[in-house]
Order: sequence, then C-alpha cells, then structure tokens
Amino acid sequence: MWKWAAAIFCVLGIVLSLRAWNLGVDSEVVPAVEGVPVDSDAVLERFRGGLRIPTVSRQPGLGMDEAAFENFRAYLAVHYPGIHEHLDLEIVSGHSLLFRWLGSEPSLPGTVLLAHQDVVPVDKGSEADWLHPPYAADVADGFVWGRGSLDDKFGLFAILEATEMLLAEGFEPRRTLYLSLGHDEEVGGGQGAVQIAKLFGDRRWPVGLVLDEGGAIVRGLVPGVDAPVAIVGVAEKGFVSFVLEVDGMGGHSSAPPDQSAIGIISAAIVKLEEQRFPMRFEGASRAFFEQGVGPASPFGMRILYGNLWLFEPLLLAFLDSSPMMAAMTRTTTAPTIFHAGLKENVLPARAQATVNFRLLPGDSGDSVLAEVRRIVSDDRIDISMLEPAREASPSSRTDSEAWRALSRTVHEVFPGSVIAPYLLLGGTDSRYFRDLCDCVYRFLPIELESDGLRRAHGSNERIPVAGIADGVRFYRRLIENADAARLGSETAG
Ligand SMILES: [Zn+2]
Repeated sequence: MWKWAAAIFCVLGIVLSLRAWNLGVDSEVVPAVEGVPVDSDAVLERFRGGLRIPTVSRQPGLGMDEAAFENFRAYLAVHYPGIHEHLDLEIVSGHSLLFRWLGSEPSLPGTVLLAHQDVVPVDKGSEADWLHPPYAADVADGFVWGRGSLDDKFGLFAILEATEMLLAEGFEPRRTLYLSLGHDEEVGGGQGAVQIAKLFGDRRWPVGLVLDEGGAIVRGLVPGVDAPVAIVGVAEKGFVSFVLEVDGMGGHSSAPPDQSAIGIISAAIVKLEEQRFPMRFEGASRAFFEQGVGPASPFGMRILYGNLWLFEPLLLAFLDSSPMMAAMTRTTTAPTIFHAGLKENVLPARAQATVNFRLLPGDSGDSVLAEVRRIVSDDRIDISMLEPAREASPSSRTDSEAWRALSRTVHEVFPGSVIAPYLLLGGTDSRYFRDLCDCVYRFLPIELESDGLRRAHGSNERIPVAGIADGVRFYRRLIENADAARLGSETAG
C-alpha cells in the first residue's frame, strides 16, 4: 500500500516540477538601448513649463477653465514646432488634440499613443499638505513636484519629445502614428477620447496598437520577485453604483417599530458586505501570475504558479488578505454614501445608501444588479442603478505582434525587468479604443513609488527626474518597434 502512495507522490512531484520549469519562460533577450541621446535638461524644462499650466478637469456642468487649456495648446505649439509643422492636427470638442503622422503605407494598422492633458483638482483644504506648491513644478530631492507630473503629463510630454526627436532625425514611418491627447479623462472622457475613438470608427482608420497610461514599473509587489516588474494593463474593471432606498416608514421616536428605515438599509448593507462576490482567477489576473511574475519567481513559488490547477485555492486565500490583490479577482462591493434622518426625536421616513461595485470582466451591471437583489431579498427596499454601468473591458491579446513590440521596448529601455499583464482597477481613456483593436495596453514608462497611486490624485504628486529620459527613449523605441512589426497580421487569421 505504502509503495503505491510513494509512487503517486513521486509522480505528483515530477508533474509539479515539470510544470514549474515550463512556466511560460520569458525568453526574449534584447540589447538595452542606451545609445539614444536625450537632452535631459531641455526636456525637463519643457515638461516643467507644462506643469505650471493648471489644466484642471471639473465635472461636466461645473464649467472648465477654457483659458488654461488654450494656454496649454499654445505652449505645445511653441515647444514642439516639428510636430505642429509636419503632423495633421484635429481639435476635437474644443480642447482634445489628435495629431496624425501619415505613414508611407496608410493601409497598415496604425499606432495610437494616448495621454491626457487634464489633471484632477487639488482638494480644498489640502494645499498646506503640499511640500511644494502644486503648480510650481519645483525640482527638489531628485523629483519634479506638481499636480499632473505623474498623471498624466509625464506621458504626454515624453510622447511629444519622442515624436519631435524622430521628426528631427528624418524618420519616415511606414504605418500612421496618432497622438490622442484628451482633455477630460479625469471626468470620464466623454468629450475627448469617446469622440476621438468615434472618428477612428467612422473613418475606418485601421489600428494595430494602442498604448495609454495605467501601468508602470513597480518593485516589491510579489514576494520572491526582486526584479522590477513592468505591469501592463490589458483589461479594465467596470463600474456601476446602485441606490438602495426604503420609504414610507417614519413616525415618532417614542414608539418605534421593530425595524426602522435605518435598520432596514443597514441590514442590507451588512448582507452585501458579508456575502461578497466570489473570487475568480481568470483572464488578466491569472496571466499576471502564469505569464508575468511566475517565470521570474524562485523555484518554490514557480511550483505554486505553474500548478494553479492544484494550488488555485491556496493562492486565492493569500490574495484575499490584500484588498488590492483581492480586487483583481472579484467584483468588489463598496458602500460609499448613506443618508437618513434629520432630527433626533423623529424616525426618518426614508433611508438611502449608495453602493459602488467594480466589475470583473465577465460580470455586467445587470448581472450584478440581479445578484444584489438576490442577496438583499427584502421587498421593502427599492434597488436601482444610479447611472448606466460602465462595463469591464475584455482582455487584450498577449500573443500578438503588438504585445511583442511593447515587450521588446520594455526590455530595451528597462533591462532586467519582468513584463506582467494585469487587470486595471480604475479606468482610462483607452477603453473606448477596445472596439477598434484587441491590442490596447496601459503602461507608463516610469518606476512608480510604493505610494505613487495615492500621490497621483492626492497631495505631493511627483516623479523622479532621473526617469524622464528613459520615458522619452521608451516612446521613441516603441514608435520604431511598432512601425517595424507586423501589427495586425495575426488578427487576420
Ligand atoms: Zn490619468
């Protein structure tokens, strides 16, 4: 009997090890690109000038600072004369900019680089938290400080610098290059990216690769992986909010019923928090481990990642201990607004709560609404969708020529880094391009600080000065690599 047990363990050990060895080895070795000279000081000064123009986005209806966006456009025209002379410029919805550098073979699928001009406002009352004024673009301690430095003017200026540099060198693209610079990404992109993507559709401009913000180089994200990891968003979660409301209760607080309006809604919220949506390990999140960090992990961890058929529950339990990691594997439930009551001796007639859900690809606004109704199952509560759901975007391909051109560029400019596809928890302008192309990626070529995400929309946003030149090199090489690749050819078959 024990012989059989030993034999089974032996076979299992061999299978686990083989699968660990075979875990999608990231074999491509490309030479680092150090030879691209970048005039860092001049680039830095042009970038700082752009940070000083407060192109703040406000919710539609609250009015926008038109002058700031006009100043910003004029600033770009002065500092990027080659682009303005040689590329077509189309102004969309008043302030979004679409540049087009026509390729010598216009029928080839084009390359689209996205960045947004707008920045989030500085929260009222938080001004004193800034170590450097948000629109001064100070350089101190090795960083450029300012609102928009990371999100997303670094990307915007690095793209323009790279393009200007290629123009100056007489580069002639085969495929058409588009620079899509929206002006309302922070409030949903309805006037900018939505309209620009629509132009592409209407004109049937073929698209082979789309790159937007949304990933970065990070360190220390996964235990055992010491190399810097370039996380590239290949899909985005969706977004929907439901309002739960109970009405017609009320009365004097001296003779309360068994359950008040507040009690009814609170009980529903407790149910929703206790019965969270199940974790699902698929798509971009699975690829993050199997294709991304798995191959770069020590052998012990590779046994885990290479044998998810056996160890998936173990890994999910581990991911569940981190809200960020858990959010990559489930539709999340977040109660965000609660309203009830006005006076201490009056039972409120009405109580209302808003719960925000971030949808995993595969879940829809309607399917989550049905599930929420099932979990709450209380007909005293009316449940409605606040606004139409923004559905999750499907995963882009990671077996395409476009992905290979992007990977190659990352390896060239950030040697030794590991490339990992992942699921973006937030939203970017690029989601509107997903219908045009299944190669939409989200990555900013800069090393993100561990608290970089908090800084991006909070106080003391900054980026390392030392990273700026590599950002320019990255976009420059990406334009060249994408131009030389056989983009789109793999989608024909
Ligand atoms: Zn952004």
